[in-house]
Amino acid sequence: MADVRPSTPIEFLKGVGPKRSDALVSELGLHTCMDLLLHLPFRYEDRSQFHRIVDIESEHVAVQIQGVITQANEFRGGKGSRLVAVFDDGEATIELQWFRGAQWILRNLPVQKQVVIYGKPKMYKGKWSLAHPEVELLSQFETRQGGGLQPVYPSTEKLSRQGLNSQGLAKLIRNVASEVSGVLTETLPARVLKEMHLVDRAAAFRHVHQPATAQEADAAMTRLRFEELFLLQMTLLQHKKKVTQDLPGVRFSEVGEAFHTFYDTQLPFELTEAQKRVLREIRADLNTGWHMNRLLQGDVGSGKTVVALLTALLAKDNGYQAAIMAPTEILAQQHLEGLRELLGDMPVRVELLTGSVKGSARATLLEDLESGAIDILVGTHALIEPKVIFARLGLAVIDEQHRFGVAQRAKLWKKAKVAPHILVMTATPIPRTLAMTAYGDLDTSVLDELPPGRKPIQTVHRTDASRLKVFQFLEDQIAEGRQIYLVYPLIEESATLDHKDLMDGYESIVRRFPVPNYQVAIVHGRMKADDKAWEMERFAKGQAQILVATTVIEVGVNVPNASVMVIESAERFGLSQLHQLRGRVGRGANQSYCILMSATELGQDARRRLETMCRTNDGFEIAEVDMELRGPGDVMGTQQSGVPDLKVADLVRDRPLLTSARYLAQTVLDEDPDLGRPDHLPLREALETALKARSNWVRIS
Ligand code: ADP
Ligand code: MG
Repeated sequence: MADVRPSTPIEFLKGVGPKRSDALVSELGLHTCMDLLLHLPFRYEDRSQFHRIVDIESEHVAVQIQGVITQANEFRGGKGSRLVAVFDDGEATIELQWFRGAQWILRNLPVQKQVVIYGKPKMYKGKWSLAHPEVELLSQFETRQGGGLQPVYPSTEKLSRQGLNSQGLAKLIRNVASEVSGVLTETLPARVLKEMHLVDRAAAFRHVHQPATAQEADAAMTRLRFEELFLLQMTLLQHKKKVTQDLPGVRFSEVGEAFHTFYDTQLPFELTEAQKRVLREIRADLNTGWHMNRLLQGDVGSGKTVVALLTALLAKDNGYQAAIMAPTEILAQQHLEGLRELLGDMPVRVELLTGSVKGSARATLLEDLESGAIDILVGTHALIEPKVIFARLGLAVIDEQHRFGVAQRAKLWKKAKVAPHILVMTATPIPRTLAMTAYGDLDTSVLDELPPGRKPIQTVHRTDASRLKVFQFLEDQIAEGRQIYLVYPLIEESATLDHKDLMDGYESIVRRFPVPNYQVAIVHGRMKADDKAWEMERFAKGQAQILVATTVIEVGVNVPNASVMVIESAERFGLSQLHQLRGRVGRGANQSYCILMSATELGQDARRRLETMCRTNDGFEIAEVDMELRGPGDVMGTQQSGVPDLKVADLVRDRPLLTSARYLAQTVLDEDPDLGRPDHLPLREALETALKARSNWVRIS
């Protein structure tokens, strides 16, 4: 193997051959030597200690003993054959057993030779035995350098059959590591290595596969995880620079009439400090002459709407139109009403465009949009249809990004000669680590403060045993003039059953809260849009005291008088959904409550979700727990393939490393924006390779 390089295909390695290399591709996706090097152990076994048979105790997870196999016999039984061997360490003997592959193992078992065995001891009929132990010749064990910690690699049944179980992989990878470590160049800039106290790259690959000590393994792992996160952040920051600083944007230099009039005469409250800070961030972006690409995160009720409106007014003051896009018609409708109410009789024209706007109304609206008579157009996906032509679109606000695909956003860009500024607003708080990766090429602003005067929602967890008490509580709240949401899960896979639950629940509520004293509205997915709207209206106007619904109300219902959210089968909801639902109450002046109804028996994750909900109202904290429970991919949902595929690092575990990686990547880019310095050449090459290998590292194009 004279000239083995990281890029050398595995099939060219001595002793691998086409069959095994094919299996490595199909089973583990490993093509090159570099892939092998990046196939990291998932744990290490301490092989520095030897045990004596007489000392074996039940606490031993695994034991390692030196000695001789004195005899081995195959027993054929009903189900197949069994191999039993006797092992002698000079003081005592112990039985070794194999229940599979007896014949094959017997053929290769080194009987009457000095060996090292390793396995988990089991007590059977008062005697210790080892099932399926590892057996290695002592001479081999000793020549294996390091020897102390044995890496354990992920493998598969098929690979194991070809001799590439964990041990087989270890041997192969060890060889590759020693072959190529000489040509592995350092990718990280010297100052980064120094600042993070990282081992160099070649050493990291050697140590991670063959550590002398646990510390050495740790240090090597850390270095490799950091490297991956650092390259990812470099990629994202470079991309961010491309879509902001390198892409011209309309300059909104004026703060004019509309903004000032609204601020001075219409704004019914003082902005929170967070709102002021975010507005400053946005205004700074809009005045650079570059394109704004900003994510605004703010929990339900944090006051994103007014931020969006003030930004839209800035657009108007500079002679541009704004588009505000919502994921559903209900939400779009509410935005329209909310904006109109905030604007009062100011001469700012806000219109609504959804799929339901048809015929001549639509034609007129499109005309006025194209002539520039409309200042702010609120709508759904309908906004991005090709027929919708703006006179001068300068800003697009996208509400609830989670439901808006990336491709749709790209269509927006095409609606103006110069790409409109983009403000993405989400009420689903994104864990910081995800914001730094999945949205790493956006600037982020956070509304981390609720408007004053809100009483924190009280959340409790109850089971069916307390149902009567819960109903009594609802009755008391209604007597005080409050309104109640009662939400049932609706999961597509179990839609029919869920629908039945909802209807049963509705019936029992109607029985408990009968007409004419009470009115119960109901909204679910099988109703026609008109009927839904009518029922919602009854609730919104206060004619119905209770709204029974499936999760359709999750987005965009605003009834400030509603003070109780009851969630049935709460254990079936995800954390972010629970949090969103809870956000429907607590919007008025009254103390609000969230009651999580569940079965008595709960799985561990479900319990953790409900506990988290009862403990905190902080959406960011909830998002962190959600990510721990479900992993980053599921938190982002399938619509957004925004979670970068990472081979070594883990967004939950490696949070601190990620933060440092982002900071240092920014520092390096500040010093050398184009990475033109000779000492940054290896980094530049590493970035190119990484980007080729991981096409999903950048999501907006
Ligand atoms: P969200 O971030 O969920 O979209 P909204 O923009 O709908 O929140 O605001 C929630 C409520 O809080 C609205 O009734 C809004 O008028 C009110 N609000 C927003 N900002 C403030 C503020 N600074 N002070 C008082 N009330 C505010
Ligand atoms: Mg909102």
